[in-house]
Amino acid sequence: MRELYPAHYTRFHCIASSCDFTCCREWKIYADDAVFRKWQKNGIRKVTRWVDGQRVVRLTEDLDCPHLAEDGLCRLITEYGEGLIPGSCRAFPREIREYPDRTERSLMLACPAVIDLLAEGFSVPGNESPEATGRLREHWMRIIRESAAPEEAFLRLFRVPEDYPAVPADAQKEEEAQLYADLTENYRAEGYYRRFWEEEADVNRGNMTLWRTHKDIIMNCILNDVWSECLKPGFTEQEMRLKLEWTALKYAAVRHFLRIRPRKGGFRTVRNGIVLMTRIMSMDDEEIFTWLHEMFDGTLWGPEYPALLFG
Ligand code: SF4
Repeated sequence: MRELYPAHYTRFHCIASSCDFTCCREWKIYADDAVFRKWQKNGIRKVTRWVDGQRVVRLTEDLDCPHLAEDGLCRLITEYGEGLIPGSCRAFPREIREYPDRTERSLMLACPAVIDLLAEGFSVPGNESPEATGRLREHWMRIIRESAAPEEAFLRLFRVPEDYPAVPADAQKEEEAQLYADLTENYRAEGYYRRFWEEEADVNRGNMTLWRTHKDIIMNCILNDVWSECLKPGFTEQEMRLKLEWTALKYAAVRHFLRIRPRKGGFRTVRNGIVLMTRIMSMDDEEIFTWLHEMFDGTLWGPEYPALLFG
């Protein structure tokens, strides 16, 4: 069986105490049955609750995992070893997809250390897939590589004609701001990621410097998402196109995040924006399809909406 994974995959390592997020905070941590039984045996109790039919770790009032120590390390590991951590913690940020002819591995952009690796580029050695959907993904990745900026890439991916009427800058800014507000609303209301909401500037004083200066790494992140998110085993072409829409929404939201940050933030701010929007938009595929269906009346995008966001 062939194994496909990005060139940087094997170089991943957790930066632990220097991480701006940690995967142990403001995050749904699933506790599988096997690990839950081990916790009970070891007297680790009352640290989970049920959410949407799944057992998750009950966070503290500060939205931390109760096992997170002050030095940023996991007490379960330091006190009991690797055997007592949930499978999702052990795997994160790695993902795996099994196809009839190959296994694909990837790293999620919900981890800042992954974005550091993407600063050096994105490539998947031997990336060839025999099925039509796999070839469509390769075609999309070629378009992104040939584009000079994310806006150009998305306009071409959604086949917006070159002579499509230009959208006024204010209309684009307004749509982007509304999208960002819709996507972040629940997290603000529940007190998650407060530090990021507190540093937001008035959109009218915002600027595009961070987005433009770091466009190469943003393009590598888009390549990563198209490769790892837009094709899953059994996906139809329609499902791929829906995931491409979701990817486009994510980067419009990242652009807004950067537009309303202080300019001095640099690469770290860009990295935080991508991690934050990846975490907020990490829903399961069925939820994403329902969201898009309701938002766009059940139809795939024509040229209007991508032109409004990126034209
Ligand atoms: S988010 Fe990534 S770098 Fe941060 S603690 Fe988790 S695995 Fe480590």
